Amino acid sequence: MMTLLISGCSEKILNAKGYPGQSEVTSEVKADTHNKDAKHSNDQMQNNVEQAKQSVANTSDENMKRHTTDKNQDGIQVVFNPESIPVLVNKQNKLPENYKPADLVYTDIPFVSDVTNEKRKMRRVAAAAVNQLFAGAKADGISLLAVSAYRSHETQTTLFNSYVNRDGYEKARTYSALPGTSEHETGLAIDVTSGNGKCAAENCFGGTPEAIWLEQHAAEYGFIIRYPQGKESITGYQYEPWHLRYVGKELALEITSKGITLEEYYNEV
Ligand SMILES: [Zn+2]
Repeated sequence: MMTLLISGCSEKILNAKGYPGQSEVTSEVKADTHNKDAKHSNDQMQNNVEQAKQSVANTSDENMKRHTTDKNQDGIQVVFNPESIPVLVNKQNKLPENYKPADLVYTDIPFVSDVTNEKRKMRRVAAAAVNQLFAGAKADGISLLAVSAYRSHETQTTLFNSYVNRDGYEKARTYSALPGTSEHETGLAIDVTSGNGKCAAENCFGGTPEAIWLEQHAAEYGFIIRYPQGKESITGYQYEPWHLRYVGKELALEITSKGITLEEYYNEV
């Protein structure tokens, strides 16, 4: 039996939620790292957002071509701005094949245990923000543990391939993110759980004081609950109260206050 480390927590949840036949997809672990703040000036954030929006807009045309030229599995388009902080990566938009964030650093937060060094990293600005988020939680009496942050393309590929070997491509796709489509590959996403380490990337994390605190405060640190409840048809993922995505404070506050997803944010514009 395999204990597979899924970094795109999402896979696991989908599995748990009823894709009959998919079974044990195990969990993740922890880590920690460190680094210092990185502040985003409003201008820079605005540029990033504009750039990302433009890129999304551009992909429409580009996508038409892709559909006719390299219509590989599922007509997924490649994002043009993988390094943009608000980059949209999902089941329809993937990172370029050779993309690796250039500014990965260790976070300074506690991880669950036995977490590989890779998973303890995030992009510099996100790592600084998550350090602050953990400190803020602690100040409010909320104890958090990190489960998994960055996942390299190689790791995701190995993981996905192991599922394909086990269950076949079509089946694997229903519960595991295709390489390039996991937000964890951006270095901007992190899975967290309660300080007791229970419910790591599990449904039971929902409704805990820690999950509630995150819903109320994550945006103050630039993070959104990326796969909210009730938005499954938009995000393509079941509710994942533990999966945080860094988008920058301004954008996080906007998205959270409107009760929308990153997908809806881009569609709105
Ligand atoms: Zn995740």
